[in-house]
Amino acid sequence: MLPIGEIYSVLVYAENRGFFADLEKLYEGLPEKECTGCNVCCQNPPDASLLEYLYAFRYCREALPEQQAGIIKRAVEYFFLEPAVPEQMCPFRSAENECLISPVRPLGCRLFGLLKEGDYEKLEKERVEKLKALAEFLRTEHGIELPHAVLASRPYCDRSLGNDTARVRMEQVDEYRMRLLMLDTGLVNPELVFRRRTLCPLPVHLAISVLNAGVRAKRLDVMRAFLAGSREPLDKYVGRVAGCRL
Ligand code: SF4
Repeated sequence: MLPIGEIYSVLVYAENRGFFADLEKLYEGLPEKECTGCNVCCQNPPDASLLEYLYAFRYCREALPEQQAGIIKRAVEYFFLEPAVPEQMCPFRSAENECLISPVRPLGCRLFGLLKEGDYEKLEKERVEKLKALAEFLRTEHGIELPHAVLASRPYCDRSLGNDTARVRMEQVDEYRMRLLMLDTGLVNPELVFRRRTLCPLPVHLAISVLNAGVRAKRLDVMRAFLAGSREPLDKYVGRVAGCRL
């Protein structure tokens, strides 16, 4: 959400106010489980708060200098092609199927595989219903036909926890999310936060930072051209961020 020129001052502010330490405390409350590397969750990166984005941004800047160019390129592609290309992976996923930002990955990524099956299915149903509504809107209002695969449910991830006591309950999920929103109110106007304007997938945060917020207006044109077989508009934006560093 933040243009690149504003990120550094907000980062310093968040550091000085101890917001990253608060975020780490929130994450520490979650059970830590092994990832089986099935890739399912990384095909649909979940929403991340503004503070979570800053946390990941700082990590990329300091720990991933060699990977930054690739991450930015993939984030721009993700921004324009989501949800038209359902098999797209999260830009932070490496070719070796590892999360490049695992120590700072957002809450939504950490929760995958930690919910009870019934709770997961309820959330997944809501996600698919939203996608159906989006697909219908794009079809009727913009003449864009999304591939049917976009509407497929993702299978339940069971990381062999062995028992249900280590799982995260829905009340806890709601509490974690509220804590994330409260942290964002320390960074930007609370009205924006509670209208959920600071929540979006990490690659979308990043693409808007490097391209600028006005690029949202071009998203559908680029998606339409891509689905019609032309990468030209997409490549124009990808070329614009070549050489960009965080
Ligand atoms: S941030 Fe990491 S864990 Fe989350 S979707 Fe991306 S690659 Fe997967």
